[in-house]
Amino acid sequence: GTQKETCEFKTEVQQLLHLIINSLYSNKEIFIRELVSNASDAIDKARFKEQTQPELFEDDNDYQIRISTDPEKKTFEIIDNGIGMTYDEVNENIGTIAKSGTAAFMEALEKSKKENGLSPELIGQFGVGFYSAFIAADKVTLVTRAAGSEEGVKWESDGKGSYSIETVEKEKRGTTITLELKETGEGDQDFTEEYTIRHIIKKHSDFVTYPVVMNVEKTEPLPEEQIVKDSDGKPIGDTFKKVRADETLNSMKAIWAKSPDDVTEEEYEEFYKHISHNWDKPMEILHKKFEGITEYDALMFLPSKAPFDMFRPERKHGMQLYCKRVFIMDDCKELLPEYLSFVQGVVDAPDLNLNVSREILQEDRLVRNIRKNLVKKIFSLLEDMDKEKYETFYEEFGQAIKAGIPTDFENKDRIASLLRYKTTKSDGKYISLDQYIENMADDQKEIYYITGENMNALINSPLLEALKAKDYEVILMVDPVDEWVTQSLPEYKEKKLKSAEKGDLDLDKVDEKEKDAYTPLFNFIKEKLEDKVKEVQISNRLKDSVACLSGDDFGMSAYMEKIMKASGQ
Ligand code: ADP
Ligand code: MG
Repeated sequence: GTQKETCEFKTEVQQLLHLIINSLYSNKEIFIRELVSNASDAIDKARFKEQTQPELFEDDNDYQIRISTDPEKKTFEIIDNGIGMTYDEVNENIGTIAKSGTAAFMEALEKSKKENGLSPELIGQFGVGFYSAFIAADKVTLVTRAAGSEEGVKWESDGKGSYSIETVEKEKRGTTITLELKETGEGDQDFTEEYTIRHIIKKHSDFVTYPVVMNVEKTEPLPEEQIVKDSDGKPIGDTFKKVRADETLNSMKAIWAKSPDDVTEEEYEEFYKHISHNWDKPMEILHKKFEGITEYDALMFLPSKAPFDMFRPERKHGMQLYCKRVFIMDDCKELLPEYLSFVQGVVDAPDLNLNVSREILQEDRLVRNIRKNLVKKIFSLLEDMDKEKYETFYEEFGQAIKAGIPTDFENKDRIASLLRYKTTKSDGKYISLDQYIENMADDQKEIYYITGENMNALINSPLLEALKAKDYEVILMVDPVDEWVTQSLPEYKEKKLKSAEKGDLDLDKVDEKEKDAYTPLFNFIKEKLEDKVKEVQISNRLKDSVACLSGDDFGMSAYMEKIMKASGQ
């Protein structure tokens, strides 16, 4: 039968509408993401129902989302042939209940307002749902017909407090939403413009499963026989014509959601280019469907070259977060620890929903669990790499891996086993700490290292004479990051890491009598050098040289002191 009524929005809906309209003004374009995502959900539901009731869908199961605009009338329209809604469903879904994690949205909004003013980036991360249409529109009209229903429903509102709803004729199943766009000011995005829509769909909805189609104007070359030519055969007038044609704006290639067996090498590479903006091939591809309490897809790439700005704090992280193929955020710092920020990729976690902010992510148990699993996968990949490939990787990203030692306590040992160093005995080749331990002399108890700026200077350092005489291997560390490694890695596999330049190496005990004989000389030197040295003492570390400068056991190494000075500390 026919029905018609005018209803007040519930208070919470009114609050939400007010918030959305007043806080998302700098992020207007997200309404398109929301409407496309709803259309895609509606098609998902239709496809699901089609499994059991195919007769309801036979006439129209070429699923697509269509956008059309009218620059004159200033309207934006989005049409889907999804499941549609009945009269009651419209009333229930749109109008009475503020859905879409409204509570979380309002909460985070209040919090960010208090702390540092309203941040548009924060707000942009929220799935604010259907009502976001009112950011861009003065009036929204939704016409829908549910699969299997005889009649259509029209819902209309200016978003100011009430809406009208009535039964109408609608020829086809699905939903059409029409926005009467707000007056645009200078510099505002024009949502009737093909270019603008193209750009927004690419950015937010590129991997939505169904085609987002728009009828666009294209230029096509005129067929030869239609080109007018002069006597020399040169064309007079146009050689092109303008035609209108349907075009799919999104790539739909959510390759992370496919089984790895169904994705070609080329597809991976193309996708890698798309997300990383790198033009060379990735070094490694990690594609996995995680199954368990929660399921999610992850596709990660190790680049073949380190970015030039790997250690700049303002550098963006390489991970993007999706929920059911809808983009949530890039630069997602919660998915991998800082030292793995060079990894490029995507995580699609259906359980996350669109309603998630960066602030909420930090606390989210699911996200922490994902992060843990991703890190494990990356470690396994690196551990299983063949030696040569790993060394190539290490040349590029070794510094980043090292930065994990002081920052990732939980995985410290696993990261330590990934370290590679050149040593006094390795002949310019990399060895691991495990290999070092294997090579250790029978009477050797500790792992010796020396830090500095220059490989040659280190190899020839007088500080190493005693160790060389004992035929002990010494790790040569020339990377500034190594100072932090040695500070946070006091031991590896129960072997202490010991600096070859600090204190007395305690290799053989110094004869006490001999020590006494030198006391007057040492006191004299100490007096002469005044505050330049802390202590003058006899040592066993030298074999050929007469004297050397060394650090005390608990002090900083000479190189570390230099770094600290250079960084102004
Ligand atoms: P959410 O998508 O998170 O549920 P929204 O505010 O975006 O929240 O949408 C509210 C509800 O309205 C949806 O759950 C759905 O039931 C209904 N809806 C919105 N758009 C459509 C559509 N195009 N087709 C069918 N139902 C829709
Ligand atoms: Mg939605």
